[in-house]
Amino acid sequence: MHRSSVPYGPDHMPWSQILMSEGLADGFPAPISDPVFDPCTVYPPEEELPDQKYQLLPSGLTKEQRRKALDDLDEYLTRKREHMLGYQVNQDMDGYKADLSRFMEHHVNNVGDPFRSGGYKPNTKVVERAVLDYYAALWNAKWPHNPHDPESYWGYMLSMGSTEGNMYALWNARDYLSGRALIVNPTRPADGMLYVQGQVTAETFAAEEEKEEAERKRRNALRPVVFYSEDTHYSFTKAVRVLGFQTFHEMAMSEPRYTNANPLGGPWPMEVPSLSGTESSADGPGEIDIDKLATLVEFFAKNGHPIMVSLNLGSTFKGAHDNVGAVCERLLPIFEQHHLVEREIEYEKGKKDIRRGFWIHVDGALGAAYAPFLRMAEDNPSYAHVPEVKMTEFDFGLRLPRVGVPEEPPVDMISSIAMSGHKWPGAPWPCGIYMTKVKYQLKPPASPQYIGAPDTTFAGSRNGFSPVILWDYLAKHSYDQQISGILRAQRLACYLEQQLKRVSNTIGVDLWVARTPGTLTVRFRKPNPELVAKWSLSSQQVVMNPQEKKPQKIRRRDYAHVFVMASTTEEKIDALIKDLHRADAFPEPVILPITEPVPELLDEAVPLALVPEAGRGFE
Ligand SMILES: *Cc1c(COP(=O)(O)O)cnc(C)c1O
Repeated sequence: MHRSSVPYGPDHMPWSQILMSEGLADGFPAPISDPVFDPCTVYPPEEELPDQKYQLLPSGLTKEQRRKALDDLDEYLTRKREHMLGYQVNQDMDGYKADLSRFMEHHVNNVGDPFRSGGYKPNTKVVERAVLDYYAALWNAKWPHNPHDPESYWGYMLSMGSTEGNMYALWNARDYLSGRALIVNPTRPADGMLYVQGQVTAETFAAEEEKEEAERKRRNALRPVVFYSEDTHYSFTKAVRVLGFQTFHEMAMSEPRYTNANPLGGPWPMEVPSLSGTESSADGPGEIDIDKLATLVEFFAKNGHPIMVSLNLGSTFKGAHDNVGAVCERLLPIFEQHHLVEREIEYEKGKKDIRRGFWIHVDGALGAAYAPFLRMAEDNPSYAHVPEVKMTEFDFGLRLPRVGVPEEPPVDMISSIAMSGHKWPGAPWPCGIYMTKVKYQLKPPASPQYIGAPDTTFAGSRNGFSPVILWDYLAKHSYDQQISGILRAQRLACYLEQQLKRVSNTIGVDLWVARTPGTLTVRFRKPNPELVAKWSLSSQQVVMNPQEKKPQKIRRRDYAHVFVMASTTEEKIDALIKDLHRADAFPEPVILPITEPVPELLDEAVPLALVPEAGRGFE
């Protein structure tokens, strides 16, 4: 049967009838809509996998058709896996199939809170809790989870990857900072905790303008602002939009008092600038600019706003690690000065608690999985590891002494961490972990009787297979093996960087080879489309001189990058390098069209966070 010859379109015989006449609709007319075009002619052609082969018919497919389609799909995926270099996804699925495929016989569903058993018994929460405990230990949290201890950790395994983890963090932070009720009331301090009241009230001040300012701060006290760098994953900006969480840029544009008061001078940036390279942040290391972050945060803290900051551990395109420790050291004195370390919140009429006025989230989609092992290698002389740069402290163990009141206990700085399971560890589908502390948990919107466990997670039904995958991975890899794995990947990334520099010299083309020290990714000039497809290279277009106003003078570069993962071998790198020596590997740079002018906004338009249409490396 040649489906592509079937006439489509309004003037032709309806699809359902054609199918019937071909004996494919089992002789009954179906109340279904007909396609207006042959779908196989309108979708992007995937040469190796023609759409025809996968179209589903009312009759289903024959056994042979189905088998052939699945075999071809398998063959395609296997071939692509062997050449995958561009994404931070471990391709190694060793052993999952043999050991775990039997679980495909079950519908496993971890609906509801992982620490309550709930009504749906075919779940793997026991496995999920073991995985969570494992990471709680690695991330220096207080464990096991104890719902009555505000300092203990809480978390769950995500059904999506870090996209969901980041969204949960933003949701949690937004509601926490804007004064919603918490799951445990932290008014009564746990042992050894001391709270200081840090609220500013209008009565405290005598002078009129001071009163006015105090009143403004009081109003801003429940209007949080979020900060993240321009190297942040696009999922973050999307989540910000979904949640209506105001970025500092949006807040600045919607508050006339702020609009012309950018403390960095000039127009407000959309996101916190990353460190600059020789030209701009485009050729910089991809880390957040701490000075600029601190200046921006101080502006909003001074105006009474609570603050959320998200930091990257393994940024999406450059693989960069924001210096979480240094950021916290810079920000804590600002938080102290503006009463954001402890403040009294009235979350219901007459009901008050004392909580933080800041939230630092670590987007560790890639890096939170390996950073603990790099830190172990640095601390243990038996690995003889000399780091290019020391891995920053980034987790729940990050505690800093208070500058103003040194006799107070140190402040634990990190409120939440997200990690993807399919990136560094490796899994056949997206999964991940979100982790926070009990003291930051919000009262869930409802505790449905239906599932029998508190509805603390984002999704209702949750993937119960993913915990088994991660558990199996962790059961098979000792700390020692994980340390060797990340050290080997770092060495291979250095090797790739050197090889690319050699290609650059040999062919006499500047390939702009760059690698931020300590990271697993090397970026370089984007090769021809065939090689990009062959090696699944992810690419990004970068504006080198973003300050330039004249469109003719804007200079762009097309970069590709390679992520060196545990599944990357020297042979794969050598094969890529060989391909890049080909005469046509780097076509003459095309002159890129002048971009369309940025549309002018209507006066009443609400400024929103920038959601990049493309790029940032994980498309
Ligand atoms: C990949 C990535 C995400 C999104 O994670 P998914 O697992 O793809 O949902 C978020 N942040 C960073 C830094 C990432 O690299």
